Amino acid sequence: MLIDSRTLFAPIIAECLALFLATGLLAYRSESNRSGLGWLAAALGLMACAFGLIALRGIVHPLLSVWFANICIAAATTMGTLAIASFQKLHLPAALIWGPALVIAVSFLLFLNDITIRLSVATLVHVVQNAFTMSLIWKARQRIPGVGKYLVLGGTLINSSVLVLRVLSSLAGLDAIHEITDSTVSQGIVYFSIFITLNLSPVGYILMDKETDDQRYRHLALRDRLTQCWNRAYLEQTALAEMERFKRYGSPIAMVILDIDLFKSVNDKFGHATGDKVLKGFAHIARTCIRNTDVLARWGGEEFIVLLPSSGLPAAACIAERIRQAVIAQSIAGIQLSVSAGYAVCNPDETWDAWFQRADNALYRAKAQGRNRVEAGTQNEQPFPASACSACN
Ligand code: GH3
Ligand code: MG
Ligand code: MG
Repeated sequence: MLIDSRTLFAPIIAECLALFLATGLLAYRSESNRSGLGWLAAALGLMACAFGLIALRGIVHPLLSVWFANICIAAATTMGTLAIASFQKLHLPAALIWGPALVIAVSFLLFLNDITIRLSVATLVHVVQNAFTMSLIWKARQRIPGVGKYLVLGGTLINSSVLVLRVLSSLAGLDAIHEITDSTVSQGIVYFSIFITLNLSPVGYILMDKETDDQRYRHLALRDRLTQCWNRAYLEQTALAEMERFKRYGSPIAMVILDIDLFKSVNDKFGHATGDKVLKGFAHIARTCIRNTDVLARWGGEEFIVLLPSSGLPAAACIAERIRQAVIAQSIAGIQLSVSAGYAVCNPDETWDAWFQRADNALYRAKAQGRNRVEAGTQNEQPFPASACSACN
């Protein structure tokens, strides 16, 4: 069964207008990607105009329904690329912005009555535009969070593949196209795929935008602004989850509390700004001493906590000692410092508060015994001699 091509234009135009409205409103409300969403809205609005003009083929002048409509499609596709570029804060060269519409304008004027050449040129321009857009997303795929990017890629790929198939089948004489509104098999597939692309790509873009915002807000909510370590909220949330795992699977969990020694005197002698640099420098050193699975958080002021999932006493002692030694081995912001640490392994049925208290008491002992020391956090557990740890990794 063949579907009348002009009938297929109706859902395409309706879809463009609905998404134009949605992305336009999102652009108006957006704080982080107003121009990207604005370009997408403009692309969809222009695409609706273009398909409206194509649907009027034979009713309005060919210069409008052929020439101008195809310039609109090329310009709308460029606007889609601009939306992606804007999302990635990239600037496109002028040739890429004006080139496609210009090539269509000139070639369609020259070959207004030759549909085969028109179709081939339009497909070539469109495929090059799509390939460029896909390359922008593909190159940045590691940096763009979530799955929205794959919807944009999928929609663009489907569109390009179907357009190429239509030209090839037409050139091979398999499905001759005499007019763009013909209701042939390949035409039906093309318009149906355009409908799918016009759903997939803008929805993917909106999702991509939302997923990026989510990541940014999660970062703001869970990271310490000064040191970029995790914050107290994230540490407590992770610790409670790990304690649940410990209860259920018996996999041990340890914590190390670190406190920079005599940090107040850094502020007093060198000023608060230098104090801040020291905190950042310390966080950097501590980060290089822990494992990928460990969680480094700033507990507050000059106190930091390392949470060590699936780790017992030896690992906690090693990490604490490793950080202590790394701090005294170098100066931070030009100042020679030291750090004291207390560590404790979570006991079965222990609360977070009790576990934390044991590690904090150990830190207190390290301070009381002269600072620049590591102490174990229990009376009933034998302190693990950090110097005896050779297999710490
Ligand atoms: P101790 O060896 O006993 O830990 O002595 P201390 O001086 O390190 O500890 P104390 O608790 O007396 O001082 C901590 C200081 O950390 C006091 C506070 O002004 C400073 N501080 C807390 N947060 C920040 C911050 O974000 N930036 C800077 N520059 N200083 C901070
Ligand atoms: Mg201190
Ligand atoms: Mg302190």
